[in-house]
Amino acid sequence: SIAPTLPELDASFIKVTRTTTPREVPLPGSPEELSHSHCTDHMVTVRWTSSAGWDTPEVKPFQNLSIPPTASCLHYATECFEGMKAYRGYDGKLRLFRPDCNGERLVMSSQRISLPGFKPEELKLLIAKLLQIDGPRWLPKDRPGRFLYIRPTLIGNGTQLGVQVPKEALLFIIAVPWPDPSQKIGLKLLASRPETIRAWPGGFGSAKLGANYGPSLQFHGQAQAAGFDQALWLFGPDRQITEAGASNFFLVWDNKTTGKRELVTAPLDTQIILPGITRRSVLELALSRLATKQVGGLAPVEVVERTFTMDELTQAWKEGCIVEAFVSGTAFFITPIMLIRDGDLDITLLSEGERAGYAAQIKTWLEAIMYGREEHEWAYVI
Ligand code: PMP
Repeated sequence: SIAPTLPELDASFIKVTRTTTPREVPLPGSPEELSHSHCTDHMVTVRWTSSAGWDTPEVKPFQNLSIPPTASCLHYATECFEGMKAYRGYDGKLRLFRPDCNGERLVMSSQRISLPGFKPEELKLLIAKLLQIDGPRWLPKDRPGRFLYIRPTLIGNGTQLGVQVPKEALLFIIAVPWPDPSQKIGLKLLASRPETIRAWPGGFGSAKLGANYGPSLQFHGQAQAAGFDQALWLFGPDRQITEAGASNFFLVWDNKTTGKRELVTAPLDTQIILPGITRRSVLELALSRLATKQVGGLAPVEVVERTFTMDELTQAWKEGCIVEAFVSGTAFFITPIMLIRDGDLDITLLSEGERAGYAAQIKTWLEAIMYGREEHEWAYVI
């Protein structure tokens, strides 16, 4: 007998229930916006079961979820998520940035924790439905240059408490106004200690699982309490530089051996860093626009993905070979690093009034794509 094929995730069947009580939209820069808690009027939910596949997706008024206390995610960390933004362009159009990459990454994360798969482009289509409804009020056309943060989340659900692959799951998508990270001039990072590592080979650091974040909050909290923005996650006895908080880490330095200027970031093949979509975009832009010719006074860079250590960074800094360092990610976007504290050593990478030229150039290029100043295949118009 042929096994029946179960319904796949299909955004085209979406059922819409509109709110009758629209919420107040926080003003830019207000305490409400800074609180990251004022979600938009609607949310998307889709149920999945192992017996009936994906249910009809719904857009409905933003509301609390109801799940049984036995739900798998509450006990066994069967949770994964995405982070992306919707941008109101200078031409009045609404755009997502490389949303298929987020769809692919969510499917990859989902598989790591035995949750169901789907066609990656369906995620983009579900987000588009949500934004067709919430976009006009929450990202008004007459306020170009603004964005909403989108959080697609997939959780294991179910009524059975036993340790097992979940038989039920719930996909939901919420959107929230988010403060503009471009106010930040430079980040201060605190290097992690051997007793607090974020990820390890054979683990799950390359998947966007909630399980990667909960245990990292202890050190993150200590770093914040000491006045730092994010942790700089080091790994192994040789203290490899992996990533920074919820961002990838980039260094521009002059390689003394080769005499070349390099843009360096940690490689993906070790599976201990998250494959950031901003990271990938920075590398691709640098390769196509910064590798062969001088741009706006910036010398060409060789693009290098390789393991590098805290000792190498420190040595290069002492020799005056570091040009700049920056993080890349959806939340912090492209932000220069001002300082790294490693034990007793403070490594200053950006002094007061100084500009990180490569970071600024890459940020300008990305913003042009996100806000429609440059037509580009990475932008998906809703
Ligand atoms: N590393 C970690 C640990 C993250 O949580 C994120 C944010 N998703 C990133 C890097 C950056 O990824 P992206 O550029 O896709 O936002």
